[in-house]
Amino acid sequence: MEYKITCISGDGIGPEIVREAKKVLDAIASIYKHKFHYTDILMGGASIDAYGVPLTEESIHIAKNADAVLMGSIGGDTTTSPWYRLEPNLRPEAGLLKIRKELNLFANLRPAVLYDVLMDACPLKKEIAMQGFDMVIVRELTGGLYFGDRSTIIENDIRKAMDILTYDENEIRRVAIKAFEIAMKRKRKVISVDKANVLDSSRLWRTVVEEVAVDYPKVELEHMLVDNCAMQIVKNPAQFDVIVTENMFGDILSDEASMVTGSIGMLPSASLNDTKFGLYEPSHGSAPDIAGLNIANPIATILSSSMMLRYSFDLDKEADAIEKAVKEILNDGYRTKDIMSFGCKQVGTIEMGDLIASHIRK
Ligand code: NAD
Repeated sequence: MEYKITCISGDGIGPEIVREAKKVLDAIASIYKHKFHYTDILMGGASIDAYGVPLTEESIHIAKNADAVLMGSIGGDTTTSPWYRLEPNLRPEAGLLKIRKELNLFANLRPAVLYDVLMDACPLKKEIAMQGFDMVIVRELTGGLYFGDRSTIIENDIRKAMDILTYDENEIRRVAIKAFEIAMKRKRKVISVDKANVLDSSRLWRTVVEEVAVDYPKVELEHMLVDNCAMQIVKNPAQFDVIVTENMFGDILSDEASMVTGSIGMLPSASLNDTKFGLYEPSHGSAPDIAGLNIANPIATILSSSMMLRYSFDLDKEADAIEKAVKEILNDGYRTKDIMSFGCKQVGTIEMGDLIASHIRK
């Protein structure tokens, strides 16, 4: 099969980690007989330097015409970089917000996986960490409190601020469908997180999720209140497969879940729209402090490319092959600096990419 991939290397370590992900994709292409056509576009600081804006209309057009977008990371050192002396709408992050909006990316997927061999990095008690975990949080990304009307007023000499939380049933349904579809490719368990004991928006959320569940009889559905979910992620993370939740709850829970893995350089992410199209990127930022040193961990970006194969191209076997290669390399004791531990072999960004690419098998 042939696929068009738009690549955004971005800033900081972005170009180094995207290069390694392409290396692994090229190994997949040659072994599984696919063709990946890459088109590079600029975004963030690199685009500001070249065009004066963080994302051009032409770049958006190119991204829209691809089958998926693979991204490194954007942004610089927010205290020293001249990009942060620009107006907010001209800063690197404005490019990311714009592309998410233009591509209608309403579902954000953040897997949090604890690898056996990286258990020491997990900040949880050993008896909990030993059970391992492998969950994905599906967060609604374009509605809810962050996108509602807001205002700050003075009423009777008292300052008062308001943020409005709105969801309509279509916004809930489309993200719930994504979550159930993803569960069908995993362990077939969805936990929908809300605050239905208090909020009307959560009660509608619960009702619509239950309606969607009728179409997925093979998937087990459970509801969980958000405060309980925050506790369960640290108390018993092994119980989770797919968590689906609204924007603000997802923002907080996905950061919590990634912290309990203890290794930011390992965590991929994806943002999807209602077609098969998605934007895939590591969960971490552009790490300007280590850019150009060949020490960045490329695994989060390599695993993002595996998510792209699975969710945008339905190439599940090829995605499995990447995940298997990553596990094998870790089991063989190879580590980048950020996940290095006693008795392991430290390798650079390029060597890690080479090792994973060379372990891709049919
Ligand atoms: P960061 O994730 O870039 O870095 C935090 C720490 O983790 C740093 O010490 C860094 O060296 C380390 N780190 C991150 N990724 C690593 C990797 N792959 N391998 C090894 N170490 C890694 O977060 P930050 O320092 O807060 O932000 C830096 C820049 O990234 C900022 O401009 C921020 O706005 C931007 N950012 C971009 C995105 C994005 O593009 N989606 C996301 C978050 C932050």
